[in-house]
Amino acid sequence: MTDALLSRAQVPLLAGSPELHYLDSAATTQKPASVLDAIRDYYVHDNANPHRGAYALSARATQRYHDARERIARFVGVADADRLIFTRGTTESLNLVATAWGLGHLEAGDEILVTALEHHANFVPWQQAARARGATLRICELTADGRVDLDRFAAMTNSRTRVVAFPHVSNAIGTINPVAEMAAIGRRAGAVVVCDGAQAAPHVALDLDHLDVDFYAFSGHKMLGPMGIGVLVGRRELLDRMDPYQTGGDMIEFVYDDHSTWNTLPHKFEAGTPNVADAVGLAAACDCLDQLGIESVRRHEHALTVRASERLSGLPGVTVLGPSPDNRGGVVSFTVEGIHPHDVSTILDEDNVCVRAGHHCAQPLMRRLNVPATTRASFYVYNDDSDVDALVASVARAQAVFG
Ligand code: PMP
Repeated sequence: MTDALLSRAQVPLLAGSPELHYLDSAATTQKPASVLDAIRDYYVHDNANPHRGAYALSARATQRYHDARERIARFVGVADADRLIFTRGTTESLNLVATAWGLGHLEAGDEILVTALEHHANFVPWQQAARARGATLRICELTADGRVDLDRFAAMTNSRTRVVAFPHVSNAIGTINPVAEMAAIGRRAGAVVVCDGAQAAPHVALDLDHLDVDFYAFSGHKMLGPMGIGVLVGRRELLDRMDPYQTGGDMIEFVYDDHSTWNTLPHKFEAGTPNVADAVGLAAACDCLDQLGIESVRRHEHALTVRASERLSGLPGVTVLGPSPDNRGGVVSFTVEGIHPHDVSTILDEDNVCVRAGHHCAQPLMRRLNVPATTRASFYVYNDDSDVDALVASVARAQAVFG
């Protein structure tokens, strides 16, 4: 019996919609009252444009922003909080790397190695950087159950490999990648190692100071935090040597008529008025996850994923994609023979079961799985067995409806 780890009473949207089975947390999570309260508290008590004002209120806003950065850095195991750059989300973090590092360092003939598991956010920016610089994008194929074969991955690196980029956890089929081993392979090739942590930061304990990656990206809204705030953790030496991604206010040191010099980290990569309120909200989300215990979060999702995988696989014509739940995050991606995923999700919606149907921003992966789309249920701390059971019952009903 798996009860919710975070009670629905603490999540206003779920408390207000008791009939809802929200199984789309890989797309975005619902927000606890503590996160909403923290954002409101910032606006009610401390709001001003930070960094610029001499008055006490502006200093308080600056302090709140600084404290939020320190709090989030602690959550992901980063001691030097200045190497934690706030962005709008994983997409912007990865575009920052592919543009500010990629365009500045890639040359014709260089190679960028990604995997077939990639979300478009860690694929298209590299494809564009490769096109712009005359580099080659190489794609590591997967095992039959959707994992990265480390021998194959290593064999695809060589002296021309300048970047290896891969997801920590796949959003589409849930595969948990062996990040340390993949990073070591990239390191041996002398490449810059980029990890898309959008589906990992919410679910697994991170110790980024001891994980040998150069850039690690994640989004606040997938980990109980607000939309519009994300993170890029970068290696200081690389960030120091990179050109800025965007230019304008806050990120400069001096602006002369013919050139400018750059502010220190993290400001060099945070042009314009920062998103203080959402940084504060994300820090509150880290508090909430720490209170629940990230190891408990992982155990909780694992239990729900096992139950969902077993019960869905028990329905004739239902195929669960991806590796076994032990190598999979809180995601169950499946197909139902004879019924398009969009039709499945429409029936599920009639039963108040919210799932995602589509290519999950992973078209290269869908092509390799030989499916146009899948239906994906994803679990988080406020889900329990009743959500899984409603999902399974509704899929069975969809089968009955479509004969
Ligand atoms: N990478 C992965 C693995 C994701 O799941 C997502 C979100 N679906 C992203 C990147 C992009 O995140 P965002 O939309 O928050 O920028």
